[in-house]
Amino acid sequence: MTADDTATDTLDVVVSGGSMAGLFTGVALRARGHDVDVYERSTGERRERGAGIVAQQPVLDFLDRHDLANPADVTTQTERREFLAPDGSVARGGHGPMRFTSWDAVYRRLRAGFPDNHYHPGHETVDITPEDPAVSFADGRRVEGDLIVAAEGLRSTVRERLLPDAEPEYAGYVAWRGTVPETAVPEQVREQFTSVFTFHEAENHLILGYPIPGPDGSVEPGERRLNWVWYDNLSGSLDRETVLTDAAGRRREGAVPPGELWEAVWNEKCERLAGFPDVFETLVRETDDPFVQSIFDLTVSSMVEDRVCLVGDAAFVARPHTAAGTSKAAGDGVTLAEAIESHADLDAALADWESERLAYGQRIVERGVQMGDSYMK
Ligand SMILES: Cc1cc2nc3c(=O)[nH]c(=O)nc-3n(C[C@H](O)[C@H](O)[C@H](O)COP(=O)(O)OP(=O)(O)OC[C@H]3O[C@@H](n4cnc5c(N)ncnc54)[C@H](O)[C@@H]3O)c2cc1C
Repeated sequence: MTADDTATDTLDVVVSGGSMAGLFTGVALRARGHDVDVYERSTGERRERGAGIVAQQPVLDFLDRHDLANPADVTTQTERREFLAPDGSVARGGHGPMRFTSWDAVYRRLRAGFPDNHYHPGHETVDITPEDPAVSFADGRRVEGDLIVAAEGLRSTVRERLLPDAEPEYAGYVAWRGTVPETAVPEQVREQFTSVFTFHEAENHLILGYPIPGPDGSVEPGERRLNWVWYDNLSGSLDRETVLTDAAGRRREGAVPPGELWEAVWNEKCERLAGFPDVFETLVRETDDPFVQSIFDLTVSSMVEDRVCLVGDAAFVARPHTAAGTSKAAGDGVTLAEAIESHADLDAALADWESERLAYGQRIVERGVQMGDSYMK
């Protein structure tokens, strides 16, 4: 070891971004004895992400291993997959169990597993110094650590500072999304989506639906929600500029959150539902607060610079068809903690971690592009 090497026994870690990737990393590092502080820009609950996610095994293992949740308590399950024709008949399908959860159910468990006195909302990172690890916030404060973890999502300030050429690329389509209490729809619609992972493909569209935990996290029948995602390449009269203009007339960057869609846009979008199977038409029309997100691809050429590393969507964004964003965020955190544990020197740990996660991130983004291209042709 040289004089500059940092031993890895107990690190002071500063995490910028307190969503999925920040919390997975924070929990994993704390479990191995490191001192971790998470700094999050927003001050309140993040409602816009309260929708469904496919419950990948690494996420469930993480929650179980850290005593944050019994997987059965945060997941719903379907037994079959079906692609419906416009008249509602099953065009193709088959047996295939799937488990689902919700963004808010996972976030709540992670947040509850991370101590309040080390979670600092209202802190926006505006700059970093990688070689002498420190983060500066918008209010002028500055914190130092042995390691900085940037978990700031698609528009990461730290990534833009370190890798200004790594730009998210619009994939050419958006996802309209929403959730509906299962009790708000007729029995036949509820039955379809609570037991079957259901799809409908049409020209320029793909829509899918599945059950997720209720708003309070309950997975009891009668208390769950039905979640839908409608991929749309905006080939009709609505362009992206219009879709991303919210009810107050503001142009949003990549998404319009629940409750803020421009009503005229949503009404026009709903006219397209006339050609969809009835169960999907009902599901979408019964949604109180639909929202829309642009789909992006993002890759980076490096995830580490000196003592700063990028995790989660700050580094790689794969299209949602891979259903991999949350498990990738968990994997980044878990493998970082493992790499640090298995090396006596921090730089060596970061180098090993980076080479594994770069390869994984690139693979998953490529898979997302292939899947998206085949669905949205
Ligand atoms: C339509 C759609 C469907 C999806 N479906 C799935 C699915 O089925 N399964 C799945 O696993 N994933 C899915 N995903 C992806 C998943 O939501 C993301 O991969 C995951 O949430 C990424 O977490 P993150 O913590 O890296 O980023 P984010 O959730 O974006 O969090 C970044 C955090 O950093 C904070 N922040 C940003 N800038 C700063 C700053 N300068 N200073 C301090 N804090 C800052 C933000 O406020 C935020 O809290 C889907 C995504 C989309 C768009």
